Amino acid sequence: PLPTVAIVGRPNVGKSTLFNRLVGKKLALVDDRPGVTRDRREGDAHLLGLEFRVIDTAGYEDEDPQSLPGRMRKQTEAAVAEADVALFLIDAREGVSPLDAEIARWLRSSKTPIVLVANKAESRASQPGVLDAYRLGLGDPVAMSAEHGEGVADLFESLRPHV
Ligand code: GDP
Ligand code: MG
Repeated sequence: PLPTVAIVGRPNVGKSTLFNRLVGKKLALVDDRPGVTRDRREGDAHLLGLEFRVIDTAGYEDEDPQSLPGRMRKQTEAAVAEADVALFLIDAREGVSPLDAEIARWLRSSKTPIVLVANKAESRASQPGVLDAYRLGLGDPVAMSAEHGEGVADLFESLRPHV
């Protein structure tokens, strides 16, 4: 079986955009565990010669915001626990948000290796946000733009030891 990479992070940081870039058109809808993985997608990814299974965790963007953190935490932790490595995305244009910091706390106690990704970094205006990411205590952030396909080589270098 292929190694598994989970994409996690709060809503709107670009998880699905990165998933789509990695998978292209070959994606599958998965609906095996209601309430936890209902909205998650899996697909086979190709990245500069690396092949792996990638899991896009959903954000429950349309649901009651009050219920978001608890449900997102369950889904995030389940996906990370079964993955060989997790990509934790933040929005570099906004820097570290309180929810990013909370998710980072969950992830620092996980046994799964975490690759921190500062997404939406295509503009110089994102540089302070990339630097801000260091305070999450998850190592050097990979600065990239999932939408514009920038930083893909750096993502490859960070993933390669784990897949
Ligand atoms: P998700 O909720 O984490 O899955 O985020 P989405 O992939 O749905 O993206 C949320 C928004 O961010 C969309 O409007 C995307 O077009 C935008 N987005 C995603 N990646 C980038 C990026 O690299 N740069 C910019 N500027 N916008 C992005
Ligand atoms: Mg999404």
